[in-house]
Amino acid sequence: MGKARLVLLGKQGAGKGTQAERLSQHYKVPHISTGDAFRAAARSGSELGAKAQAYMQAGELVPDNLVVGIVKEYLADEGGDGFVLDGFPRNVPQAEALREMLGPEGLDVVVNLDVSTEEVLHRLAGRRVCQNCGATYNIYDNPPKVPGKCDICGGVVAQRADDTEEAIRLRLEIYESATAPLVEWYAKQGLLVTIDASGSPDEVASRALAAVEAALGAPHGRPGR
Ligand code: AMP
Repeated sequence: MGKARLVLLGKQGAGKGTQAERLSQHYKVPHISTGDAFRAAARSGSELGAKAQAYMQAGELVPDNLVVGIVKEYLADEGGDGFVLDGFPRNVPQAEALREMLGPEGLDVVVNLDVSTEEVLHRLAGRRVCQNCGATYNIYDNPPKVPGKCDICGGVVAQRADDTEEAIRLRLEIYESATAPLVEWYAKQGLLVTIDASGSPDEVASRALAAVEAALGAPHGRPGR
């Protein structure tokens, strides 16, 4: 097990974070989320966090040089045995930077989580996130047992600052113009699998795992890698 080198693509609300976490646990490789990294940096009050925060709050992309820098650090520190990238790359220049970082070994597979805009709008309207551990809930489909309190760590569960109607609209527009072209870009390289990301997290997880296993070419990981 391990050594899977994965990217998750999909609209905001497609379930990238949830599925990335599950794949990361299954393959025992780190889950690297650029959004989580920026939110943590903003909370810690670092210079990077301060720079990223205004873009995030507005729903705009953080400039490529900041994003690429942070991913490079993460991959160098903890990505040697594989990784699940969530929220990166988000445009072609970032994908080109990633290709350069990874060198000849490259990626194993890019999983595209396909879900309708109508469904993601519903999910984002109900999305609530633990401000302490990052666990995600949905007040309609998967609420915390005690309202406003994380089942896992007891932290405060609240709406993300960028899950306002205006920021969501802008983020979905940016997804279409900047990120969606990556679907074709990775398909051309033979790296893309698209799965139906509607339904429950468990249903999507079993589709995602089946797709990754098929791409890795062996039902129980690849011996020797
Ligand atoms: P996420 O949690 O992936 O939805 O990311 C939240 C916000 O962080 C985004 O709306 C962007 O402002 C910023 N961000 C995260 N990843 C990237 C990226 N790869 N490129 C640019 N901005 C990003």
